[in-house]
Amino acid sequence: MDRIVEVSSTSPPPTLQTRKLIASIATLFALACLIALGALFNIATSLNADEREKSSFYAHKALEQRLEAARQFLSSYAVWDAAYEHLNGAADLKWAHEEKNVGDSLYTASGFEGVFVVDDHSTKYALFKGQLSSAPASTYIDDALAPIIAQARNVAAERQQITRHILFNAWPAVLSAAAIRPDDEELGIDPQTTSVMIFVDQLTPEKLANLSAGAGLTGMRIEKTGALAADESSLPLGTTGYRLEWLTPRPGDQLLWAVLPPLLGAMLVLGLLMVYFFRYALRTSREIDGTLQRLQASNLALEASEQRFRAVAEAASDWIWETDRHHRLSYLSQRFVAVTGFSTEDWLGQPINQLLSCETTPLTLWLDNQADSDPGQMANLRCGYRDQNGQLRFCRVSARSIMIKGKLAGFRGTASDITDEVAAHARIQHLSMHDALTGLANRNKLSRFLEQALLKGQDAAPLTLLLLDLDSFKPINDSLGHAAGDAVLLEVATRLRESTRDGDLVARLGGDEFVLVMNGMDSRNEIDRFCARLIDNLHQPIHFEEQILHVGASLGVAQTRLQGFDAGELIRCADIALYQAKADGKNTWRYFSPEMNEQIQYRRQLENDLRKALKNNEFVLHYQPRYRLDTLQIVSVEALVRWQHPVEGLLGPDTFIPLAEQTDLIVPLGRWVLREACETARSWPQELLVSVNLSPAQFSRSDVVSDVYKILVDTGFPAQRLELEITENVMLNDIEGALGTMTALKELGVRLNMDDFGTGYSSLGYLRTYPFDSIKIDKRFIAGLSSDGNDRAVVQAIINLGKAMGLTVTAEGVETEQQLKALSKEKCHEVQGFYLSRPIDKQAFEQLLRQPVGAGLPRDAM
Ligand code: C2E
Ligand code: CA
Ligand code: CA
Repeated sequence: MDRIVEVSSTSPPPTLQTRKLIASIATLFALACLIALGALFNIATSLNADEREKSSFYAHKALEQRLEAARQFLSSYAVWDAAYEHLNGAADLKWAHEEKNVGDSLYTASGFEGVFVVDDHSTKYALFKGQLSSAPASTYIDDALAPIIAQARNVAAERQQITRHILFNAWPAVLSAAAIRPDDEELGIDPQTTSVMIFVDQLTPEKLANLSAGAGLTGMRIEKTGALAADESSLPLGTTGYRLEWLTPRPGDQLLWAVLPPLLGAMLVLGLLMVYFFRYALRTSREIDGTLQRLQASNLALEASEQRFRAVAEAASDWIWETDRHHRLSYLSQRFVAVTGFSTEDWLGQPINQLLSCETTPLTLWLDNQADSDPGQMANLRCGYRDQNGQLRFCRVSARSIMIKGKLAGFRGTASDITDEVAAHARIQHLSMHDALTGLANRNKLSRFLEQALLKGQDAAPLTLLLLDLDSFKPINDSLGHAAGDAVLLEVATRLRESTRDGDLVARLGGDEFVLVMNGMDSRNEIDRFCARLIDNLHQPIHFEEQILHVGASLGVAQTRLQGFDAGELIRCADIALYQAKADGKNTWRYFSPEMNEQIQYRRQLENDLRKALKNNEFVLHYQPRYRLDTLQIVSVEALVRWQHPVEGLLGPDTFIPLAEQTDLIVPLGRWVLREACETARSWPQELLVSVNLSPAQFSRSDVVSDVYKILVDTGFPAQRLELEITENVMLNDIEGALGTMTALKELGVRLNMDDFGTGYSSLGYLRTYPFDSIKIDKRFIAGLSSDGNDRAVVQAIINLGKAMGLTVTAEGVETEQQLKALSKEKCHEVQGFYLSRPIDKQAFEQLLRQPVGAGLPRDAM
């Protein structure tokens, strides 16, 4: 798993973390900005407030000074002996005005707009802007005079004056008033009776300008009470309803103006930088997120695919390998260990061709070819190797080149163990070429051998073919059973093998028929001696279970030098010679001679007749019923073919079926029988089954399945009423093919019956594998039932076996009452035989069907 980068799934994704970080930084930044701005505004405000306070102070001070000045100025006029003298009683205008003691200079020089001398009742003296006026003071002064006079008199003793802001001529002015008194240390007069001198100093713009300049203030003016601008300050002027206003500098504002723009600019720039940075960070972390997710996804996918690969690699029966460019193994799956017994370390780094080898092509060369071939295709090669135990094993190697960046990096593939397959194949190969019982070559192998040997024709080395048939073998088989027969056949096979040399061939054609193909033995003399020795050899006693058995042999001889180079012809000639030898008294041999052709002639004639018979419709079917053993009801009927020969009369199948099988005529004949049986039986009772015999030759030389299908369709005969009887010879030649055919037949819906059960060598095995519905015990065993021999046990066993496998068991060839009774005792399902009914023609069978159950049977059978 080192290829997988671990990605923790518990830590939050970077985007989330970045977002949080950004949020906190942004908040901090905003907070810092706010605090800075707040502090700045605070400073500005307090600066402004300070300045305002300061200016107020100066303004106030200036006003105070003005009042003080006015008071002192007034004091110098009011506290004056001469003034008391001239103005306290009746006002001495001459003294005051003309002599200018209290004259116009008060206005022109000192700026007092109004100068009055009043007492409780009148204005005694009045100057308005320096001019003598007859109007009373109250004309100008917009304030009650009585309290002013009273207050002024009250403070006269202390040489004090009063001042206040009043409206003079409807404009604010500073009024100062003082009681007129002599300038004595002790006040010797009653101040309540003296006149009061009033000076009015109007706050004109010029005076305000002076005041303003004196106080260091600007924009000083007088306004009625109302709203003030931010940069203005004011002081009330008594109860006049007016106030003194001036402009206050605002250093705070200046500071703000000076600092705020660059500060805000800096903040903005910083903010923008931060936004940019945040966006960049977010994008980056999102990208990282995406990359992480993709990485995670691809890790998961990789892990899944690795798991899948491992599961497949471990579950597969195959092992997986990889090599580098130089065919050195770089990987072996665990299965390799299980299959071969080696550990992977034993072989990693070793060249693959030291492990595996191929008989037909060097493995490495083959691998190199893979690199050049179509990458979509996987080629296979059968290789062998010795496993850990030294056992030879086979595997099917598939390979593909590994290309990295267009360059060959190595090879990879699988190796399927096919040891069993190879062994099975070899077995099948052997079986198909050899006789199962004796291990000798069979007819197939013989044909091939002859084909090869005769290929060169004239130029080939001379061959002698001996066809051998055992005499008196059948009685041994019939009386002593198959085991004895088999023992004899095995012993004969051994002796034949021992009599021949390496290049020769011994084959068994079936039954007790053998062929010997002799190389380089051509002279009659030689052949005669060999035959005599062989017959003598075979005649030697054979021991079987304490019994001594004797067989003889007859031989037919054919030679390529004389009979030509056609294999079929050679066998036929040897066959005719053999026939002659048997006819001449057995235990001898005969060379083929043309005179023996009569026999051939006869066969040819018969063959021609058979051909014509098909055309002329000379065949007829006879029907032999099959009965349920418990009720003796007819449940089925077997169609058996006969030949109505124009010259020789009605011939049984034994005379022409073998010939038909040899000449392929069996195919059309078989079709005819099947069609005829189906057509005839269609009108018979629905529950009645019809059996038709199929020859093994029909299996190998025609498509039985399509024939049966076509006939069923054509005749409309229901498939489930048709039963096909097959002997196990069908299976001898082509086990796999026969199974396929039978399965296909079953799929058509027909029933399959194994005929002549018990005569083959491995019937039991077939029963298990093949889809039979029923078996028919061969009549040989039924014939043996009456005697108290082996056969009874065999029949018993077959019935039990058949039942155990769910098959219907029929006994054929029932000829006697005892046999029927015995079968009944063994609970055989169905019976067939001469005792119940011989095969009869169609009319007779239809008549039988019309009779009540059991009517045609011998009384004992009931
Ligand atoms: P098989 O299929 O075993 O047929 C039974 C044979 O036994 C029949 O002889 C029948 O007449 C005979 N048989 C019936 N009951 C008894 C009995 O109680 N005792 C004795 N000793 N024999 C009995 P058949 O009709 O001569 O037929 C001989 C063989 O010819 C058949 O043996 C079958 O293998 C073959 N054969 C007959 N008809 C056809 C056919 O249409 N096609 C093919 N391929 N073969 C056929
Ligand atoms: Ca039959
Ligand atoms: Ca039979």
